[in-house]
This record gives sequence, structure tokens and C-alpha cells, in this order.
Amino acid sequence: MSAKPTAGTDAAAAGAPAGSPKVRVVLASRNEAKLTELRRILAASGLAVELVALPDGEEVAETGTTFAENALIKARAAAEQTGLPAVADDSGLAVDELSGMPGVRSARWSGRRDGTRAERDEANNALLLAQLDDVPQARRGAAFVCAAALVTPGGVERVTHGELRGVLLTEPRGQGGFGYDPLFLADGQTRTNAELTAAEKDAISHRGLAFRDLAILLREVLAS
Ligand code: IMP
Repeated sequence: MSAKPTAGTDAAAAGAPAGSPKVRVVLASRNEAKLTELRRILAASGLAVELVALPDGEEVAETGTTFAENALIKARAAAEQTGLPAVADDSGLAVDELSGMPGVRSARWSGRRDGTRAERDEANNALLLAQLDDVPQARRGAAFVCAAALVTPGGVERVTHGELRGVLLTEPRGQGGFGYDPLFLADGQTRTNAELTAAEKDAISHRGLAFRDLAILLREVLAS
């Protein structure tokens, strides 16, 4: 395990005037895309925090049965490892016809563990399409779901939730996004998630909703 980064101790700095030292907060992930997305959302919320990636170390096993449990498991481990307030998320797709599955198994739905992330996403999408092969449009409802957790070294634990409802198409559309995005048409949209720009997706996404609420909590918790 690597050395702990220096903790940002100026708790009152969150939301403080420009020029104040920023509070350091660790994101319990080494996923650069997620770090960029969360930085964008926190900056838009006007929060004076410096979000840092989790230093190299052991991967924590996501043994929870809900998104909230997994987000808390990851945030607790990151707070413990670094001594910093930690945020984490866990997300996935809940399909009505499959009683909420793939759910917390979304990333590993096809069982494929080798190959690139894009190849695994493609295998997941192919399996999901096959499973819904004979399911009519009216029963193809689904939701992207996200739980975001905040854990401080002092023991504060909070969780926020976000959900984006829509329907699953019968074939993929669009090149953007990741995961199940090419199959997912959000309610009120004419383009799939994979056809939206990153900013358009942020504005409606499960992660955008959960992290904007988390930013509000973060401001309260760091100021107290
Ligand atoms: P995690 O939150 O990175 O663990 O994501 C779990 C899995 O859920 C991903 O690998 C995707 O398969 C799926 N997923 C989560 N969020 C999205 C999204 O915004 N679009 C498409 N797939 C998603």
C-alpha cells in the first residue's frame, strides 16, 4: 500500500471564497473517466474541493448486494487507506423484465473477464439483447441506477441516489458513452445515451443526479 497523501485539513474551505485552500477529497476509483466526470460535476456545484484519485493499492471486493452497500464499501476503504474524506459510486442497469438484473452485476453480466472494457461491454449488450429477444416494446422498461457514498475518517457516512428511466432498444445505436448506453433510450429523449453529448448525458444521468446531491452533502459535512 502506498503512503497516505497529506490530508487537506481546512474543512471550512469547501464552498469558501476563491483563493482559499481546497479540501482534498479522494475518489475511490482509478477510473480516469469517472474522475473527470465527478470533477466536472463538483466544479459546476461551486464546491472548493480538490478531487484526487485513489493511490495504487489492493482492489476492494464489491461484496454488497445493493449499489449503496458497494459504494459504502469502496468509500470506507478509501477513507481508511488515505485518511481523507472519500467519495465512491456504484451503478448499473436494472431491467424491469429481469426483475432488476443485471443490477450490481452489470459490469460482469456476460461472465466475460478478459479483453478490453469495450469488448466486455459488447458481450454484455449482446447477452442482454438475446435475453430480451421476444420481449415487446411495452415491457422493455429499465433504469440506470447510481448510489454515491461519502465517508469521512471521522466516521460520517452518507449515501445519495440517482435514477434515469428509459427503454431498451432492439439494437445498439450511437458511438458515445460506454456500457449499455447504445441500447438505452431515456424517457423524453429521441437519441440513445450513446448519441448524447457528455454534457447532455451528465444533465440527466443517474450519476449526475447522485453526485450533484453528494456535492450538497459534501459542502455540509466539510463545513461542520
Ligand atoms: P460501475 O459503477 O463503474 O461499477 O459500473 C458498473 C456497470 O454498470 C458498468 O460497467 C456498465 O456496464 C453499467 N453502467 C453504469 N453506468 C452506466 C452508464 O452511464 N451507461 C452505461 N452503462 C452503465
